Amino acid sequence: SIAARAQGLTKTYGSGSTVVTALDNVDFEVVSGEFTAIMGPSGSGKSTLMHLLAALDTPTSGEIFIGDTAVGRMADTPLTELRRDRIGFIFQAFNLVPTLSARENIVLPISIAGKKVDEQWFDRIVDVLGLRDRLNHKPAELSGGQQQRVACARALMNRPDIVFGDEPTGNLDSTAAGEVLGFLRRSVDDFQQTVVMVTHDAHAASYADRVVFLSDGHIVHELRGATQEELL
Ligand code: ADP
Ligand code: ADP
Repeated sequence: SIAARAQGLTKTYGSGSTVVTALDNVDFEVVSGEFTAIMGPSGSGKSTLMHLLAALDTPTSGEIFIGDTAVGRMADTPLTELRRDRIGFIFQAFNLVPTLSARENIVLPISIAGKKVDEQWFDRIVDVLGLRDRLNHKPAELSGGQQQRVACARALMNRPDIVFGDEPTGNLDSTAAGEVLGFLRRSVDDFQQTVVMVTHDAHAASYADRVVFLSDGHIVHELRGATQEELL
């Protein structure tokens, strides 16, 4: 099935003589249970596409569907709930709350939603991510790789329909990057998670089932099961 769909998606920034077309009439589908990577040079529209798919920004024209839900027709409150309940995010800069412990950061979206933490799921995620003995630490007491693994746990905690990663390994050394990428891969293989990741890194993209290439606001190419060498 289709986890998210972009139909005739166009996004322009600015106005008059300074209009930039970041995305030009893009059609794109995210398949459920797949790990999709979006690659392309700087300025090709990767972040714009991801932000639109994640309902963080609105298109100039075209339509986004999360599952069967047409995001463009939604009012603010259901849209906020959709983002909170059905979408997980992992950012390049981790975006953890510095005053909260790792555990508190992981369960924060659940707490904000006023829901009960599924402790079994929490334990499973924390153990897969090797965070068991780091749960009482604040972000500043954790390495970059540990912080990003906390962000991974937070993103998966409410079992979202899709996890979006925006250059999730961009601030990590290759060992820490491998741990995060291995986890994302495992979340797809073992937990049937759907993952969409923006990256300019061929090594990172080689973890994906499918790599989509953007250039100048257009999808120009797509590969399945590509190796790092094929993606360079
Ligand atoms: P990428 O993620 O591939 O680097 P972006 O989606 O960030 O590409 O940007 C695509 C194009 O849109 C670029 O030309 C960029 O300069 C422009 N752009 C992105 N965000 C903005 C913005 N907020 N205001 C103006 N131009 C923007
Ligand atoms: P160096 O010895 O130059 O520091 P690294 O250990 O950083 O090399 O990189 C080794 C391999 O891991 C390279 O193929 C590189 O592309 C990849 N790599 C490094 N950093 C990252 C990262 N943050 N995300 C994904 N792949 C990475």
